[in-house]
Amino acid sequence: MGLAISGHEHLRAHALQELQRTSQNTACMKATERYRIDHTLVSPALARLALRLALIMLTVCVLAFADLAAGEAMNAGPSVDSSVSFTFLDVGQGDAILVSTSDGHHMLVDGGTRAAGPRVVARLLELGVEHLDVLVSTHPHEDHIGGLTDVLNAVTVGRVIDSGKVHTSATYERYLTTIDEKNIPFALGRANDWFRLGGASVRILWPTAALPEDVNDASIVLRVDYGESSALLTGDIGPGVEQYLAEQRALSRVVLLKAAHHGSRRSTVPEFLRQARPRAAVVQCGAGNSYGHPHNETLARLILNQTLTYRTDQHGEITVRLTANPRIWSATMEERGAGYLGSSASNVFHFTWCDSAKSIDPARTVVFSSRLQAEDAGYRPCKVCQP
Ligand SMILES: [Zn+2]
Ligand SMILES: [Zn+2]
Repeated sequence: MGLAISGHEHLRAHALQELQRTSQNTACMKATERYRIDHTLVSPALARLALRLALIMLTVCVLAFADLAAGEAMNAGPSVDSSVSFTFLDVGQGDAILVSTSDGHHMLVDGGTRAAGPRVVARLLELGVEHLDVLVSTHPHEDHIGGLTDVLNAVTVGRVIDSGKVHTSATYERYLTTIDEKNIPFALGRANDWFRLGGASVRILWPTAALPEDVNDASIVLRVDYGESSALLTGDIGPGVEQYLAEQRALSRVVLLKAAHHGSRRSTVPEFLRQARPRAAVVQCGAGNSYGHPHNETLARLILNQTLTYRTDQHGEITVRLTANPRIWSATMEERGAGYLGSSASNVFHFTWCDSAKSIDPARTVVFSSRLQAEDAGYRPCKVCQP
């Protein structure tokens, strides 16, 4: 398993540094204490949760050292014809993203609502995923962690990476208890941590050590690098965090963006888009959701940026596949409808029956649900088939 975690702020790396100076036990205690300082206990239920978390984290400390050493040997980058795919599962209102490398490594980022849990599990099994190298819980809202307990019970999980943001809900407690019972390695994700997922490299851009008050703003933000291509998975972060990330200039070479917070009005700020310049964006949201997600202004900002935008409420399950070359990527959707086809290497779109459409390299095929969607993404109609 190609996994390593580094970064001086990370719990594990921190523990390793501590170990060089003092004993392993002391290091683990410090990590646990740091957690307790971050999250003031306010109720017996929370105290119980914190105790569980502390126990899990003691396990983490012990496991840290073997993994860090193993990571050094796993530096093979992506090869020709290899890819990393991002499958945005159709879970209604909520996030559930399966990241899979062509060499067979899998990471799930969030698991939808509790009601969506069985659907997430069924889809994972259909896709042949019986083991997740990593499961990331971006933040403890129900539309992100609700389905994770079903996932944890159905497939094996190498490691859980969590924001560490505590939430007083039965869903959160159930999720944490399951991790504890199954004795799954558990780590807090912090900015500058990174690990390998097969040929991909995953870097955590946010949060930093001090968690924000706001639960959405505490979301783990991931950048998945594959050769020269990148994807950004942003949880439910708001404009303040996006602005901060834009200022860090950590958003270059982005091919794919998961629009933050289900395309809410305040997220996906112009400065963030200008920095990231994503070719494609995906909004995960439920049809007719009561929040009005995605907001028209957010969609307009994406159009202005000529970002091809897909929505799970309209397009069902969406898969975006990146290669090591940022110019070669593809995007397909479950509900193709009438459908138009283009290539990520050109700016022309076609009817599916057009000879030019048939000759598009599958690795570069981009599907549009409407003429408008193609035009918004900066594509013009083919002069031959005139779609
Ligand atoms: Zn959410
Ligand atoms: Zn949220």
